[in-house]
Amino acid sequence: MEIKITKAAVLKEKPDSSTLGFGKIFTDHMFMMDWNSEKGWYNARIVPFGRIDLHPASTVLHYGSEIFEGLKAYRRKDGKVQMFRPIENIRRMNRSAERLCLPEIPEDLAMQVLTTFVELEQDWTPSAEGTSLYLRPFMFGNDESLGVHAVHNATYVIIASPVGSYYAEGINPVKIMIEDQDVRAVRGGTGYAKCGGNYAASNRAGERAAQQGYSQVLWLDGVERKYIEEVGAMNVMFKIGGKIVTPMLSGSILPGITRMSCIAVLKDKGFEVEERLLSIDELEAAMENGTLEEAWGCGTAAVVSPIGELCYKGVKYPVNNGEIGEVTQMLYDTLTGIQWGKIEDKFGWIQEI
Ligand SMILES: *Cc1c(COP(=O)(O)O)cnc(C)c1O
Repeated sequence: MEIKITKAAVLKEKPDSSTLGFGKIFTDHMFMMDWNSEKGWYNARIVPFGRIDLHPASTVLHYGSEIFEGLKAYRRKDGKVQMFRPIENIRRMNRSAERLCLPEIPEDLAMQVLTTFVELEQDWTPSAEGTSLYLRPFMFGNDESLGVHAVHNATYVIIASPVGSYYAEGINPVKIMIEDQDVRAVRGGTGYAKCGGNYAASNRAGERAAQQGYSQVLWLDGVERKYIEEVGAMNVMFKIGGKIVTPMLSGSILPGITRMSCIAVLKDKGFEVEERLLSIDELEAAMENGTLEEAWGCGTAAVVSPIGELCYKGVKYPVNNGEIGEVTQMLYDTLTGIQWGKIEDKFGWIQEI
């Protein structure tokens, strides 16, 4: 499809890489494309970064028809820019779209617009250690009427933000509160879709945990509050008695690309990985008898986030003496090595710009 490019008249000054933070600074342009149930996708364009004009009755503002993705472009030592498994984000976006009755984007079109946009903005990819250009594709239903139904109009946008190193102060294990009241998602619901509504519903538990000095919550399943699902907005993995255990994708868990990549790396290094139901009782027993060796969250923003303490029903359990474990460190080194082009990508995950 032809992409009409309107360049910004004045380009912004690139920020100092020590002041980046997460998602506060945006590049000069954004990609936009519209969809209509009769016309399909049309009006693909790159325009100066700016506000989006919405009708007050727009579907997204009332019924939450919104999905998003998150991936990064990384600057290598030789100056080239590369993305990590972007096709997986495109496929997941389409699975989210199907769930929310939003339009899917043919894979080749989604890849074309993503690469065109990243190529145009690649100078914004910072080069300091651990920094990257965060890419945020998102789509929303945009009918200008209050009727409740699958939408006839939607808008797809990609914005980009140079982000600082997640671990600017070193990799410090986090404290996690096991949440036994609120749930993030239920089977049959939207847990496997990356949609804004899931986030809106999970903020209350996150805030409660924060008030008690915890970074995030460990979610239990929405039916029995018995099986472990995710940690905050990351997938979760445990090393129990030498084996790696991670909750199986049951429909209420977001299928993370970092999760998938960790599993591939772990298997490649000879670890036994079990994707299965893991109950809170089994985890509690492992914490009590000392067989829980490591625990970590995994997702694009942090890559891995070691868990140094778990709190369940008021009892605090330290994990690996509050330190990052060997397997967690190995995963971090291997994935970041591939992402920033420091080690060979034998999996074929990298896409150069
Ligand atoms: C995005 C997300 C993840 C992690 O997915 P990645 O593809 O690894 O970044 C995990 N859980 C939730 C709820 C998410 O939204």
